[in-house]
Amino acid sequence: MVGLLRSEQMSEQNLVSDVLIVGGGLAGLAAGLDLSRSGRKVRLLEAADAVGGRARTEWWGGRPVDRGFQVTFSAYPAFRKFVADIGIPKSDLRPFVDGGAFFDGAQWGELSSSPLSLFRFSALDVADRARFVRLAAEIRFASPRRLLARDQEASTTEAFLLQRGFSNAAIDRMFRPLFGVIFLDRSLSADPGYFLFLLSMLVRGPSVLPSDGLGMVGDWAAGAIRQTGGDIRTGVRVAALARDPDSGRMTGAVDGDGITYSAAVVILAVDAPAARELLADHDAGTAAKIPSDGASVTSARFALRSSLYQGRKILLNAAPESGVHPRIDLVCQTTNVNRHDAVGAPHIVVATSVGDSDATAAGIEDALERQIHRWFPEFPWSRVAESIGVVRHPFAQFRPLAGVRRSLPGTRTNVPNLLLAGEFTMHPSLEGAVSSGVTAAEIAERQLG
Ligand SMILES: Cc1cc2nc3c(=O)[nH]c(=O)nc-3n(C[C@H](O)[C@H](O)[C@H](O)COP(=O)(O)OP(=O)(O)OC[C@H]3O[C@@H](n4cnc5c(N)ncnc54)[C@H](O)[C@@H]3O)c2cc1C
Repeated sequence: MVGLLRSEQMSEQNLVSDVLIVGGGLAGLAAGLDLSRSGRKVRLLEAADAVGGRARTEWWGGRPVDRGFQVTFSAYPAFRKFVADIGIPKSDLRPFVDGGAFFDGAQWGELSSSPLSLFRFSALDVADRARFVRLAAEIRFASPRRLLARDQEASTTEAFLLQRGFSNAAIDRMFRPLFGVIFLDRSLSADPGYFLFLLSMLVRGPSVLPSDGLGMVGDWAAGAIRQTGGDIRTGVRVAALARDPDSGRMTGAVDGDGITYSAAVVILAVDAPAARELLADHDAGTAAKIPSDGASVTSARFALRSSLYQGRKILLNAAPESGVHPRIDLVCQTTNVNRHDAVGAPHIVVATSVGDSDATAAGIEDALERQIHRWFPEFPWSRVAESIGVVRHPFAQFRPLAGVRRSLPGTRTNVPNLLLAGEFTMHPSLEGAVSSGVTAAEIAERQLG
């Protein structure tokens, strides 16, 4: 028995691959998919017990429950291709056909992708509607790259909107509630290039949720990588990157048990805080460029025995700041969208509170109950709602403040065969994560020759 264990350990210590990917979020998986499909021997190590990273899903009563509300835009170019490449059918990407409902403290206003809804939407007056139509037309067919490059047109998104003539009422009643939950930052301080990119995604097509939750994307990607012979190991936390002191090249990585994984190329695809730590000893200059300012978000998830509302939409809190915290910024009965064809309970509700990083889980759940009572006074929340748990992401995504995207580290490091992937190398979104993985795979492919 002891001999068997020892020989297993020996073979573990000689683990060699063409490419070692550290981190199994969507960036690492996108890199792994392209490299394994082009015939490279790929090994991916993920610290958690499942792949998917920030885009993971749990299950409750046979319904998917994401670890925080997030959507993907059907117009995200790299993400759309990735989803098709791993075989998820279009019919499994379920659109928010009814858009969003904004509660301004007194009444609801609905905004969907139908142009008519814009003209009925009371948060915008006639002049703001005309400005919005002009801006939407200007960006609708522009290339995402060009839009992202318009970051210097103003210091913040809010400044950009004011410069384009939008009223404070339009900003507070439409842009702040909507983009506050997309940027995960209600100050609208993201650079305007990133705002224009996201707005163009919104006007090109609906937001969607996969039928099995966002985690479906990571799970199917892992399946596709394994099908082409890739080796994905979960529950393996890399403790350090390994480097040959003579050549200065990366040789692989070592996990917490001292097992070494060797490879010709290493792709570091972990989250920004972990990347900074693992990179610091090898390339302090590049590590210093990894953004350290993250947006925090807390998500409360509940299973309901009766349905809270009808319609495939999000509910947004567009009421003025009351000074009472924590504030619930978004509520979505996600099963209306991803399981619109399912009969009966449980109905899954996910609520988002942006910022408020010191609020307790109980404080968030109480705030949600009070919010539901304000919005739906007749709804018997305490009798039908069961908590599935609160998830806090202290660093949900980096904050793209003025100049930040211009000084990101990018894919290459100063160690030739060490590449970076992750939202923090591009822009803070699912699209940024996937396209960073695709770019890292292209460079790795060239390095392998
Ligand atoms: C609540 C929330 C809402 C969001 N909303 C949206 C949205 O609506 N639309 C949108 O486009 N984006 C949204 N985002 C952002 C999006 O989820 C991320 O940009 C994207 O998932 C990042 O992917 P990634 O692969 O770069 O990083 P991650 O998903 O963080 O993957 C990194 C992986 O590395 C692993 N890891 C870390 N350290 C180690 C180690 N030492 N060894 C091995 N593995 C390690 C981690 O466990 C993780 O699985 C949201 C994020 C959150 C948290």
